[in-house]
Amino acid sequence: MPLNTTDAIVLKSINLGEADKIITFFTRRYGKIQGVAKGVRRIKSRFGASLEPLTYINLIYFGKENVNLYKINTSDILEPFNKIKEDFDKLKKSLFLCDLVNSTLRELDVNIKIFELFLNILKIINRSKEIEKIDMLLDIFSLRFLSASGFAPKLNNCIHCNSPLLKGDKGDYAIGFHILKGGVVCRECLNGSEDVVRINSGIINFMKKALTMNILNIDRISLPHKMEIELHKIILDYINIHIDRKLKSYDLAFGIRS
Ligand SMILES: [Zn+2]
Repeated sequence: MPLNTTDAIVLKSINLGEADKIITFFTRRYGKIQGVAKGVRRIKSRFGASLEPLTYINLIYFGKENVNLYKINTSDILEPFNKIKEDFDKLKKSLFLCDLVNSTLRELDVNIKIFELFLNILKIINRSKEIEKIDMLLDIFSLRFLSASGFAPKLNNCIHCNSPLLKGDKGDYAIGFHILKGGVVCRECLNGSEDVVRINSGIINFMKKALTMNILNIDRISLPHKMEIELHKIILDYINIHIDRKLKSYDLAFGIRS
């Protein structure tokens, strides 16, 4: 059986039988994979610690084609992200990212750009002292991840009449965003259009920036607080509609009471 080696982020871990665990990984080289770690719960070990969700590791596993549960051989911690695991706010928001990737990414779907983005965002959250930027990071990741998964929002032209947005569309609530159709609605088409949220054009500009910016420059961008809350709601609704089911981690991460 061939041995595969790659770096990976642990997305999820569930117990299996008396002593084993099934782990889901987002790997750089092979996309999302699942593996079984035999006997890992019998003794407290570095091997066990390396398989906790939100740990960045170097993973070696036995791989065979047409097998969807691999046998994990060894894993070494590259970055434990302890400052995330020790802070409940950071932890629940980061687990939301794991849940989003785990629910949406298909097995063996390789996406190195999204892998890098995920890793960089975890690094920023880990060292971040200001918790308020974290929601913005989640919005940026969600937008890019959904775009890479085939749900890119249409931001340049109106989804109804296909006209480019005009100067008159700028400013407060002159345009809309259609969550289900995933795109912007111009001032002319806004009246009578159903299922559209009225938004400020600043949100569309921010979304465009979010899709292309270098995430390491997060400190250089900002959005007025009111717009940030509106953007956040649009993105969460967008995730809900486009991934087909509600994520369990969603309410916890954003303090929504059901
Ligand atoms: Zn239009």
